[in-house]
Amino acid sequence: MIATNPASQILVVGDALFDDHRSRGYHPERPERLHAARAALDRCAHEGLGIVPVEARDATEEELARVHDEAYLADLAKLAGHHASLDPDTYLAPSSVAAARRAAGAGITLVDALLDPSSQKPGEARAPGLALLRPPGHHATRSRGMGFCLLNNVAVAAASALAKGLERVAILDWDVHHGNGTQDIFWTDPRVLYISLHQYPYYPGTGGVHEKGGGDAEGYTVNVPLSQGAGDRVYANAFRQIVDPVLEAFEPELILVSAGFDAHQRDPLADMCVSDQGYATMATLIARAALRSAEGRLAFFLEGGYDLSALSSSLAETLLSAASAASAEPRSSGAPASFRHEGEVTQARKTAAERWKGI
Ligand SMILES: [Zn+2]
Repeated sequence: MIATNPASQILVVGDALFDDHRSRGYHPERPERLHAARAALDRCAHEGLGIVPVEARDATEEELARVHDEAYLADLAKLAGHHASLDPDTYLAPSSVAAARRAAGAGITLVDALLDPSSQKPGEARAPGLALLRPPGHHATRSRGMGFCLLNNVAVAAASALAKGLERVAILDWDVHHGNGTQDIFWTDPRVLYISLHQYPYYPGTGGVHEKGGGDAEGYTVNVPLSQGAGDRVYANAFRQIVDPVLEAFEPELILVSAGFDAHQRDPLADMCVSDQGYATMATLIARAALRSAEGRLAFFLEGGYDLSALSSSLAETLLSAASAASAEPRSSGAPASFRHEGEVTQARKTAAERWKGI
């Protein structure tokens, strides 16, 4: 049993530069998403959580080159100051390259703050972290940006933590889209466990159950592909049957969450049925996992989520639940899981069990 008091605060990194990344025409990945996220912080503050700001900085070339090819970084640098697009989905405004470098650096400073022993108040659980970043990152591979993403923020942060001496970092990706970029970057790296729950088949097309990492890292990529319509119970079942036991076996020293909110039932881009309460349950479960093995070191990185009110309400539930996870039991709710979804979770668990025996 975890015997700590709830965290009374959250560490938050953001930057005004992220608002300057704006498409010339309408695009769902827009600055208003950050306004909605900031409204969620206001609600958290109103409910008694202290918001501790963490200052962002630009990622250095060395920090970016740990996860991206130098040729791609050079190509991206040439687009600074211009309107451009990497593919039909992925725009750049004149400030976008600067925003992307700042976003990648912001994730590093947040993780540095989490790793700082002084960030934990005596007798309390460690404060979780939140990186309010744009552009998002999890589709950016080693060699290219795509899917609204330019630089892979969560991967840059994980690589930074490893460079500072950590040996095991887990990335949990609950964005509705598969994080093909993060999978690509850590495919053969057993220091990073990558677990993704996502709609499948769906954009970007990767994330099948048999994609499980290569070389020394076979089994360190865990994909949980779910067909459309999955809701709170399906996700909670996947946590209990796969996410929790695999994390327990891996024993991460730090957990980073690619926190997209586009599996929400109101999201316009995808077809899942997760409610605010579903996100609260997932946040409680992942925060408890962080308390068990990672001394509570947990950070949420904003990825997708395109319904502004759903983004705001589900983010607030996520943060409030993560901060109180030390003392709260997760609740299960929502419609019963269908046989189809139960079968998908079972298949993913069996595949993960090939590496993680006994889960
Ligand atoms: Zn997404």
